[in-house]
Amino acid sequence: MELCANFIEKRVNSMAEPTTEELILRRLLWIRHHETMEGLYGDDGELQCSRCMIDFKRMPAAEIEKRFQEQGIAKLREQGVLIDRKHTTQGNYNRQ
Ligand SMILES: [Zn+2]
Repeated sequence: MELCANFIEKRVNSMAEPTTEELILRRLLWIRHHETMEGLYGDDGELQCSRCMIDFKRMPAAEIEKRFQEQGIAKLREQGVLIDRKHTTQGNYNRQ
């Protein structure tokens, strides 16, 4: 029973704290995800971006990916590359 408790405690701790490798990759993603460092907050080991409201230290990778996809779609709409179906008969993509 004590072994089981130790295993669970270690598992919870490992989920709470990213490994060194993961932390390095998260830091690289945080610092490189915009062309400038505007909006990045990295004091005290934090890895946050106020421009896209992503916490690179704590958010699950799948959530960060989802946010990036949403931002990419919004950017394509702004550029007029991606148009909603209800606005065109040519489908989602309207490449110029
Ligand atoms: Zn950002």
